[in-house]
Amino acid sequence: MSTVTTAIDIKKIRSQFPILDQEVNGKPLIYFDNAASSQTAKSVVDALVNFYEKDHANIHRGIHTLAERSTKAFEETRERVHQFINSAEADEIIFTKGTTESINLVAQAWGSKFLKSGDEILISHLEHHSNIVPWQLAAERTGAIIKVIPINEKGEILIEEYKKLLSTKTKLVAVNYISNSLGTINPVKEIIAEAIKVNATTLIDAAQAAPHIKIDVQELNCDFLALSSHKMYGPTGVGVLYGRREVLEATPPYQGGGEMIKDVSFSGTTFNDIPYKFEAGTPNIGGVIAFKSAMDFIDEIGHEAIQAYEHELLEYATDRLNQIPGFTPIGTAENKASVISFLIDNVHPYDLGQLLDVKGIAVRTGHHCTQPLMDFFEIDGTVRASFAVYNTKEEIDVFCESLQKIVERFS
Ligand code: PMP
Repeated sequence: MSTVTTAIDIKKIRSQFPILDQEVNGKPLIYFDNAASSQTAKSVVDALVNFYEKDHANIHRGIHTLAERSTKAFEETRERVHQFINSAEADEIIFTKGTTESINLVAQAWGSKFLKSGDEILISHLEHHSNIVPWQLAAERTGAIIKVIPINEKGEILIEEYKKLLSTKTKLVAVNYISNSLGTINPVKEIIAEAIKVNATTLIDAAQAAPHIKIDVQELNCDFLALSSHKMYGPTGVGVLYGRREVLEATPPYQGGGEMIKDVSFSGTTFNDIPYKFEAGTPNIGGVIAFKSAMDFIDEIGHEAIQAYEHELLEYATDRLNQIPGFTPIGTAENKASVISFLIDNVHPYDLGQLLDVKGIAVRTGHHCTQPLMDFFEIDGTVRASFAVYNTKEEIDVFCESLQKIVERFS
């Protein structure tokens, strides 16, 4: 049995995820679908139960004790996100239902005011559909034009080509921090710095980055950043849009309703201050409150330790997989997170996914919501194994042995 060298307490970590301790199809579950959604930490589930059993009430509008308790806990999560991504202020943190909604908020609200016919929006060839389609819709509404930053065969952004695309027409640069399909870690700091030179607004899709690497929005110097709690050991239905104060203040509301107003009459409405201006209606209160425990879980281990451990898993798995006949990795960037997309000769990804499931191993197959990226590689899809901090080398051994057997059956 292989040993883990990076100093993390895997036993303690796994004890936070009772869901992993089960059999699927008669085999111990091996969960390698973390890029789609990571499992929820027990402390998060406990926080959710505690909220619904003890504190549930609507926030902000009540003066009774339960309303005060839930409002306090909700706003504590805002403070926690502010620390977690090092925003200048807690008011720059807007709760949404996920990265997709965060990006749509920017595309609709910011886009409706700041994009005009002929303006250019730069996105990369690596983007998730949720950082493509909202811009296509915004382009249709405003007459703006989308330009695509090219990539190389390894799945890396071509920085020199990106610089050539930038001009005074560039109004927005929106790229992901880590590609969900390939695991490429993009040089977002440099991308943002170049965008600033032409006065473009910047948006970082940090859905995949937030659980793996330390995010510092002030150091990055981005205008917007989006993330999802469910990829960070937190509950589904909760996301964040970070926006720099000046940019948020200049952006009109996204949706109208309760909470986002100061004063309403039939002759007109004055809007609330940020962040409430962007939080119409009753949010996912319990989910937001429990999300705080997810950030606590990550910070208790520490991003550095998480990244080092996951990198070790990535290298170990890559070495082992490369020994399997017919294995072809898709995406071989120098700087990569713990995601391995691949194909096996003569076995359709879908069949591979099903055969692995029979062995209790959960991987994702298909285009991973990145069809233009699949077109670049001239494939329909891949098999994707993505590792989280609770995964082990022993699980990778079982995964590779299972793959080996499948390959032997098909050869
Ligand atoms: N961007 C990236 C890079 C992603 O991986 C995902 C989720 N697969 C999204 C955006 C969308 O996130 P959500 O479904 O949580 O809104």
